[in-house]
Amino acid sequence: MPATSNRIAIIGAGVSGLTCAVLFAERGYRPTIFARESGQQTTSAAAAAIWFPYDAEPLDQVAVWSLQTLETLRDISRDPASGIATVELRVFARQGMLAKPRWADSLGARPLEAAELLKPGIFTSGYSVHVPVVDTTVYLDYLRARAQLAGAQFSTGVALRSVAEIDSDYRTIVNCSGAGARMLVGDDDLEPHRGQVAVVGKLDLPCAVVCDDPPLMYAIPRTNDCVLGGTNEISENVEPDPGDTSRILGEAARVLGIPPPRVTQERVGLRPFRRSGVRLESEQLADGRTVLHNYGHGGSGFTLSWGCAEAVFALQSATLATS
Ligand SMILES: Cc1cc2nc3c(=O)[nH]c(=O)nc-3n(C[C@H](O)[C@H](O)[C@H](O)COP(=O)(O)OP(=O)(O)OC[C@H]3O[C@@H](n4cnc5c(N)ncnc54)[C@H](O)[C@@H]3O)c2cc1C
Repeated sequence: MPATSNRIAIIGAGVSGLTCAVLFAERGYRPTIFARESGQQTTSAAAAAIWFPYDAEPLDQVAVWSLQTLETLRDISRDPASGIATVELRVFARQGMLAKPRWADSLGARPLEAAELLKPGIFTSGYSVHVPVVDTTVYLDYLRARAQLAGAQFSTGVALRSVAEIDSDYRTIVNCSGAGARMLVGDDDLEPHRGQVAVVGKLDLPCAVVCDDPPLMYAIPRTNDCVLGGTNEISENVEPDPGDTSRILGEAARVLGIPPPRVTQERVGLRPFRRSGVRLESEQLADGRTVLHNYGHGGSGFTLSWGCAEAVFALQSATLATS
């Protein structure tokens, strides 16, 4: 690779931008990350964040990227500093028989026995699968440190009005701006799917819990605490709503059979849902530079992160080959 072509700009320091930064830096590029917020201030920090394809399109491609990501997250989880653990996830239905999604078969998912339904009066069926859970309070810092170790540089507190504002020395720009892409590249196809969670102390749960049918409910145990959710509505309001918190606690207490736990933190994030699906494609700017778009991961940004970063890298390699 010629020295001039190994500099790239990455917009965004959430899970998508940080993952691309690691991947490109460790493969010989010199990425600079430009972002308004970084790591713990982003939507990514509000995520639960369990490996679970949810609220992202198109389903077939999401399954492929998700399974690729699963492999990488499993590898990374061997490093205790990553904040990734493997947990048993039980997905429940409150009504009828829950059909396993196709991706679950390749992970050895099995239907739950009656005795495993936690609250038989409430849940009617479910399946169990072992998946990675990411502690965002650790993993986002881990990704940033790993990218820096491989030579990536960070320029944060930078609010861009357009992609073209990036210095023209950068011939390739990777756009990982999440819900911010609506403004940054004028993408009206993006919908902010607002999600609120309540972080509580450690709960004595045998597994992570997701309720598949409405109201959305999940309980994701992490190393030092537990994330309870959730909400999903079209809104740009990033302020915690006390009514949402009390509904989240009420439903968690009801289905888990516990007293409402004490909340240590409320967090809100905007899932970058894109109606026509994750945007993963290259575009040429008027000045001939290449933009590789990687946004619109909806409720699956962690689940898709490594698969999508590999796809971005393949796009960059294809661009180099034809230039
Ligand atoms: C409550 C909740 C629970 C979730 N649970 C899960 C889960 O269990 N599993 C899962 O896989 N996913 C989950 N998600 C989804 C996941 O959090 C998102 O898909 C993911 O965070 C998107 O990451 P991103 O890096 O693309 O965007 P973001 O994290 O939003 O990062 C975008 C970055 O771009 C920067 N940026 C944007 N616009 C500009 C601009 N104009 N100029 C400069 N910088 C800009 C921002 O500052 C930021 O650094 C959840 C989300 C929520 C809200």
